[in-house]
Amino acid sequence: MSLLSVHNLHVSVEDHEILKGLSLDVNSGEVHAIMGPNGSGKSTLASVLAGRDDYEITEGSVEFDGEDLLEMDPEERTREGLFLAFQYPVELPGVSTHQFLRTAVNSVREHRKQEPLPVGDFIKLMREKAAFVNLDPKLTQRSVNEGFSGGEKKRAEIFQMAMLDPRLAILDETDSGLDIDALRVVSDGVNKLRSEDRAFVLITHYQRLLDYITPDKVHVLVDGRIVRSGGPELAEELEVKGYDWLIEEAAPAA
Ligand code: ADP
Ligand code: MG
Ligand code: MG
Repeated sequence: MSLLSVHNLHVSVEDHEILKGLSLDVNSGEVHAIMGPNGSGKSTLASVLAGRDDYEITEGSVEFDGEDLLEMDPEERTREGLFLAFQYPVELPGVSTHQFLRTAVNSVREHRKQEPLPVGDFIKLMREKAAFVNLDPKLTQRSVNEGFSGGEKKRAEIFQMAMLDPRLAILDETDSGLDIDALRVVSDGVNKLRSEDRAFVLITHYQRLLDYITPDKVHVLVDGRIVRSGGPELAEELEVKGYDWLIEEAAPAA
């Protein structure tokens, strides 16, 4: 059974159909890249998996570890082991990363029938994971993302991912044009956290991220559908040829 199974997903925003029958299966241990031109629906897919409002699911299903993901609220999804990293991370004024993560980590532990972590152990875990992603531990005392530089936000996000130990992490890196340092933060973090017990879905407009992370599978999303799937060589082909040839292929015959 796949860890994530998306079947014939149709999603509309304000009566405008954006995802038009998307299917995707991700197994534990795998890294999938979803690429595609601007406006093809990549962020819409990430938002629907995250459980954001404003999206109308008109057809299809999404199962996470055999359970109906679409029935779960966003907090339940996190507890089940889904992690969503976004292009523009939210700021939480007045809530320190320490407080935020303590609540989140203990909620995940409770769900896994584990005792809450004693404060000392939690601090130790934070130090360990901060060192793991080269995050300045001082940042964990500040409000979540407030006044963080772009690079610090990226690092904080990868740090949160390491702390939450997700079974599936979805990263929407889209078209924000990550600089080379941020790119390294993301790719180092993903490569370090890659394991048999975890899967990744990397959503990216550019092939660059995949110079540092070798995905198991690459999918191309055009106009709300996956029009091509392949191995890492597909990303290289897109680097050379761009998306136009696939957009033309995907267009309905006149
Ligand atoms: P991508 O991430 O691949 O660039 P998006 O998922 O952001 O694509 O957008 C897909 C299409 O859906 C675009 O045409 C975009 O304008 C439209 N869209 C996305 N979100 C909304 C929204 N909240 N309201 C109206 N249209 C939207
Ligand atoms: Mg876009
Ligand atoms: Mg996007």
